[in-house]
Amino acid sequence: MVTCDVAVFGSGVFGAWTALWLRRAGASVVLLDPYGPGNSRSSSGGESRIIRMGYGPDEIYTQWSIRSLVHWKELAGQTGQRLFEQTGVLWMALEDDVYAGHTKRLLEKHGVEFETLPASELAARYPRITCAPHSWGLFEPRSGALMARRAVQAVAAEGARSGVHQIAEVIAAPAGAGVLREAVTASGTKIAAGAFVFACGPWLPKLFPLFLGRRICPTRQEVMFFGPRADDRRFTPGQFPVCLDLTDPRKPYCFPELDGRGYKIAMDAHGPLFDPDSGDRTLTPQGIADVRVYLAARYPDLRDAPLLESRVCQYENTSSGNFLIDRHPDFNNVWLVGGGSGHGFKHGPALGEHVAALISGHAEVEERFSLATKAEIRAREVF
Ligand SMILES: Cc1cc2nc3c(=O)[nH]c(=O)nc-3n(C[C@H](O)[C@H](O)[C@H](O)COP(=O)(O)OP(=O)(O)OC[C@H]3O[C@@H](n4cnc5c(N)ncnc54)[C@H](O)[C@@H]3O)c2cc1C
Repeated sequence: MVTCDVAVFGSGVFGAWTALWLRRAGASVVLLDPYGPGNSRSSSGGESRIIRMGYGPDEIYTQWSIRSLVHWKELAGQTGQRLFEQTGVLWMALEDDVYAGHTKRLLEKHGVEFETLPASELAARYPRITCAPHSWGLFEPRSGALMARRAVQAVAAEGARSGVHQIAEVIAAPAGAGVLREAVTASGTKIAAGAFVFACGPWLPKLFPLFLGRRICPTRQEVMFFGPRADDRRFTPGQFPVCLDLTDPRKPYCFPELDGRGYKIAMDAHGPLFDPDSGDRTLTPQGIADVRVYLAARYPDLRDAPLLESRVCQYENTSSGNFLIDRHPDFNNVWLVGGGSGHGFKHGPALGEHVAALISGHAEVEERFSLATKAEIRAREVF
């Protein structure tokens, strides 16, 4: 039997930050994950994630991004690790793009530094990009890339250093109702706690099929790394930003070469449904072909660049793209935390802080994060 104040299940970016904040607040915490932080099956695995402040009209996410970046940088300072690369983030949008208009307004409101780049300036500053006709740019110079796997492992290590007890086991979903006294792992270890957090990312629908089976939908997402020529330094950080292309309905996004791994590109549009345990993580010929067509059009210098590496990861989408941070419908002291929906990583610090405040009774459930607002039909609103 293991006893603690709070047990957190899942040490992805959401669970690891939640455990760290709880520990910082003085709670005894157990963090349990069979595969470990940033493992290759998890949604927090892989090399890099974008951290940007712009979120269209969705102000809470702009606020959380601002707050989270402070904590990511602080953790990088504490641990001496390079967790954040300030590459700048360039949004490309069509002239009448409503989302980009909202983004501009909220960045102004929150004092986030940015530049607007009319078409001529966009072309002059980034000659490597062939922009869509009638497009403009919005540049966030202080945003950039988080080194995903390294960063989530650093959060978990910081938790361990400050006393979070970590266990490599699989937790089973609780049965019953009311107040949960203990949870049990697949191998029979009992974990007694005052509160329990299930932060199991794309596994949440498997754990709670009755009420999450159709409310969180993991989708297959392909990520590719292409190699510029050996003498071409123009796609390295400092020379090239993270790019988000709103002019294409698939919302492609790209990273400059980080850690020498190549130019990373992926489509934000949702792929088919995917099983995080057993799904096939090899690229499809169609996925490669689609990306090559896009590269040739937007980044012609990379038209024939070799594919160096690839990953297949999964988003864990809620109906709207808003996170799920709410109580279990049957247990007062069990919390469900997930639904990162392809944009959750950056928010780990602010989300963890919020969950810790919920558990200690210092915050209320935000309506947009509630289980009641999660529908079974996918109608994405947040990007
Ligand atoms: C390709 C891709 C690109 C993305 N791009 C961005 C981006 O640019 N910016 C951004 O902010 N976000 C991005 N995201 C989204 C972000 O990465 C996710 O929203 C976030 O990582 C989700 O974290 P999580 O902790 O909820 O889930 P996970 O990281 O999946 O963690 C869940 C953990 O639970 C564990 N677990 C599962 N079952 C059990 C069990 N029964 N008992 C105990 N533990 C269990 C797993 O091993 C896993 O480690 C992207 C995601 C993908 C896949």
